[in-house]
Amino acid sequence: MQLRPHHLLCIQKFTGHGYDEPFTQHMTSIVSALKSHPQTEITVTQGCDDLCQRCPNNHGGTCTSLEKVAGMDAAVLQHCGLTPEETAPWHELARKARQRILDSLSGHLRQLPVGGALPAHGAWRGVRGRVYGRMV
Ligand code: SF4
Repeated sequence: MQLRPHHLLCIQKFTGHGYDEPFTQHMTSIVSALKSHPQTEITVTQGCDDLCQRCPNNHGGTCTSLEKVAGMDAAVLQHCGLTPEETAPWHELARKARQRILDSLSGHLRQLPVGGALPAHGAWRGVRGRVYGRMV
């Protein structure tokens, strides 16, 4: 499976809401598959990934919010010490993202539905300002 770096966080904070019904169903199935099969090999990609497949912002393989998501991707790569095209089991990448980013968030930020709704990544605004701001 291919995943953009910041989706390592979105998947772990998914609350069952998405851009639209097809996207939400698709994300639900990915989250569920990774929960059931934590050994799934993930390749970190900087382009549209498996999660983006059903996103209304994916226009022919290009994210219409590219400027925003590219910054988040770069921040996660840097903070987690990952490189593009790196491959590792889901549980390892998820743990890195959790320990190096999510666990460092203060209590109230931890409650943010980070990527839960992936509302045009709006939920990331607070995180970007408070966390990514010091990372990128
Ligand atoms: S907004 Fe962009 S990066 Fe996020 S899921 Fe949609 S296409 Fe992918």
